[in-house]
Amino acid sequence: MTPRLTPDDPGAESSAHPHSGKTSLASLDYSVLQQCMHCGMCLPTCPTYAETGRERNSPRGRIALMRAVADRELNVTTSFAEEMSYCLGCLACTTACPAGVDYTTLLETARAHVESSGITATPKRTFVRWFTMGWLFKKPRLLRLAGRLLWLYQVTGFQRAFRKLRLTSLLPKRIRELEPSTPKIQRHFSDTLIPEITLARGEKRYRVALLTGCVQDLVFSDVNHATAQVLAENGCEVVTPRTQFCCGSLHAHNGDQENAHILARRQIDTIDPERFDAIISNAAGCGSHLKHYDRLLAEDPRYAARAKAWSLKVRDVSEWLIEIGFRKPHAGTGATAPHIVTYHEACHLCHGQKISKQPREILRAISNVELRECAESTWCCGSAGIYNITQPSTSAWLQMRKLGHLKATGATLVTTANPGCHLQIENGLRATGDTQIEVVHPVVLLAKAYRTEIARR
Ligand code: SF4
Ligand code: SF4
Repeated sequence: MTPRLTPDDPGAESSAHPHSGKTSLASLDYSVLQQCMHCGMCLPTCPTYAETGRERNSPRGRIALMRAVADRELNVTTSFAEEMSYCLGCLACTTACPAGVDYTTLLETARAHVESSGITATPKRTFVRWFTMGWLFKKPRLLRLAGRLLWLYQVTGFQRAFRKLRLTSLLPKRIRELEPSTPKIQRHFSDTLIPEITLARGEKRYRVALLTGCVQDLVFSDVNHATAQVLAENGCEVVTPRTQFCCGSLHAHNGDQENAHILARRQIDTIDPERFDAIISNAAGCGSHLKHYDRLLAEDPRYAARAKAWSLKVRDVSEWLIEIGFRKPHAGTGATAPHIVTYHEACHLCHGQKISKQPREILRAISNVELRECAESTWCCGSAGIYNITQPSTSAWLQMRKLGHLKATGATLVTTANPGCHLQIENGLRATGDTQIEVVHPVVLLAKAYRTEIARR
C-alpha cells in the first residue's frame, strides 16, 4: 500500500532552519520550495530532460513534484522515488537558474524523505545500505582492510584467473555487469605515501590540512601524494591526519541524513578548522559536500559554530593554488613531448563549487601541454556517485556521449578532478578498446613538472 503523508509523520516536524538536513520535504522552509519561478531556463542543461524530453524528468518538473509532496497533494510513491533516483544530482540546473533555486537541499531532502517513507525498502536493499553506508564507509580501518584484500585479489592473479575461467558468470547479473569496472586498488594508501606533516619547501606561508578521502585513498592515493607535494612546493606546511573519515557525501546524496551528520561531526573532531589556513580537498564531489557542513549542522548546538568555521576553510586544491598565487613550473619541465590535453569538468566542481577557470589555469602553466576544450565539458559523464549502479542505462548513454566529445579533441590526456569521473571515463575508454588516452588529475601533472624541475637542480 502506498504510504500517505500525514501530519503525524515523524519527519513532518517544523523547521527553524531551511538547510539543516531534514528528512521530510514538509519540514523544509517553504521559501526553498517556492524559489522556482517555472521559467524553464534550466531545461536545456538537464541531461535527463535531454534524454526523455519529459517535463517530469526536468528540474522544474521534479521541483513541482517535491512541492506537491510537501503540500501533501501527492503521496510518496515508487514513481516519485524513481524520479528522485533518476536525477543525476549533477547540479547543472543550479548554474542555469536565474532564481538561485537551492536544488541541492531540495534533492537531498527529497531522497531522505523517500528513504524515511520506506517505499523502496526491500530486505536486500536495506542490507546493502546498512553494510555500505551504515558500516563500511563509517569505519576507515575496515574500509582500508577491504581495500587491502581487494588489492591482494587483484595482484596475486586471482582476479585474472576468475575472469579467465569465466567464474564471473556465477555472479548475480548486476554484479557480473559491474565486475569489469572494479577499480584498481593502489599498492600504498595515503598514510604510507604522505607523512603526517609535510614541510613547506622554502619559506612557510600557510598551514593546511589535507583530506585524503575514502575511495580516493584506496584508488587514487597517488593524487593525494601529488597534492601534498604541490602544496609543499607552494609554501604550505601540509598536515595529513593518519585516520580520516568518509566526508559523508555518499550518505547525504543518497538519503541517509543521520550518517551524513555523524560523519560531518567526526571530520570536524579530526581536523579543527581554527588550526589551519585552509582544509584542502582534491575530489570534487567531496569538496562540494564538505563546503556545506555549515548548513548540515546548523541546528546542532555543539557543532554549528565549528561547522561554519569549517565551511569557510574548505578549498578545492585548484581553487587554493590560484588563491595563493601558485608558482608556475619552469619551462621544459612538463611532458617530454608536446601533449594535447583536454579537461572534463566534474559536475560538483563546476556546478557544485563554481570552479571552472582554476584547473585550466594550472594546466596552461605546464609546459608542453596544449589544452584543447571539448564540447559539453560541463555535462555529466554519468558517474554521479553511484548512478552507474542505480541507473546503468542512462549512465552508459552519458558515458558514451562524453567519450565522443573527449576523443574528438584528439587529446592523449584527459584531465579531471574527481575520482568518480576519472573511473567512469577510464572504464569507458577501456570498454571501447582505447588504450592511447590516459586519464589524470591536473594536480598530478603539476607535481610531475615540479619533480622534473627539482631533479634538474
Ligand atoms: S541535478 Fe542534473 S539531472 Fe537533476 S534536475 Fe538538475 S540538471 Fe537535471
Ligand atoms: S531555471 Fe530555476 S526558476 Fe527557472 S524553472 Fe529551472 S529551477 Fe525553476
